[in-house]
Amino acid sequence: MQLRGRTAIVTGAASGIGAATTRRFVAEGARVTIADRDEERGRALADELGSATCFVAADVSREDDIVALVARSIDQWGHIDVLFNNAGFGGALGPISATSAADFDLTFDVLVKSVFLGMKHVAEHMTARGSGSIINTASIAALYAGWSPHLYGAAKSAVIALSASVAMELAEAGVRVNAICPGAVATPLFAGRPDATDEDLAAAAERIGPTIPLGRVGRPDDLASMALFLASAESSFVTGQAFVVDGGSTAGFAWRTWPSFMREPRPIRHHRPEGR
Ligand code: NAD
Repeated sequence: MQLRGRTAIVTGAASGIGAATTRRFVAEGARVTIADRDEERGRALADELGSATCFVAADVSREDDIVALVARSIDQWGHIDVLFNNAGFGGALGPISATSAADFDLTFDVLVKSVFLGMKHVAEHMTARGSGSIINTASIAALYAGWSPHLYGAAKSAVIALSASVAMELAEAGVRVNAICPGAVATPLFAGRPDATDEDLAAAAERIGPTIPLGRVGRPDDLASMALFLASAESSFVTGQAFVVDGGSTAGFAWRTWPSFMREPRPIRHHRPEGR
């Protein structure tokens, strides 16, 4: 029960990483506000988990929704210990020349402005209490090109930079800010469709799993474990960091994909000249 007595807001909590983290936080003793624009699935999760949760419908790109979300959570639980800014989507797709300015704005509103707004509106509450943990979901797409469309990677880079910068300010008051960089995780977002079925996820996981050093795609629970660490006292000396949880993807290519001449044991073809 690492979060006994703690309270949290989790955005994008109706699905995927947010839903798994909400379940884990509740199992560890926390009370959690489930925030999402998907009312049906958000309410269903709150109904399932019971009185340790409440659901608040919110579009995280809208400042009035974030203000109401924070106010409702303080009203409901008395205070907020943890904010997990996790809601997201794939954003604009396609070549740069075909990307509209409106799609740029929408992508950055959902992926970056949301994180800014969340931090802005819990900062005074947390600094007044002298404690708190803010966790922002970035992506390995922030670190290497080719894992995502152009704007998604750029937006997630902004999330890492903003997290580190705000961490410096809030550290003065004992509030910690960190980012998480998931690799490929089997969720509707990863399958490219909010209505993805379990079969869609399994098919995508089977295709991509072998390219990942640990041999499988991530499970939402793998990210919930990192979020729990960052939310709990176990990480009390950790701030301003971006933690990669990707089965080894950003460390290198999976051993099983290396050329066979590099993997097979054989003597090296090199002889020192006589007498040296
Ligand atoms: P998901 O699709 O399962 O869940 C995303 C949730 O965010 C959904 O419930 C959706 O309704 C909600 N959401 C989207 N836009 C919103 C908005 N404007 N306001 C409120 N809620 C909104 O996807 P997931 O994979 O669990 O994604 C969680 C986070 O992880 C996202 O920030 C995503 O970018 C990031 N991420 C995911 C992967 C992956 O492979 N799945 C990899 C790297 C990063």
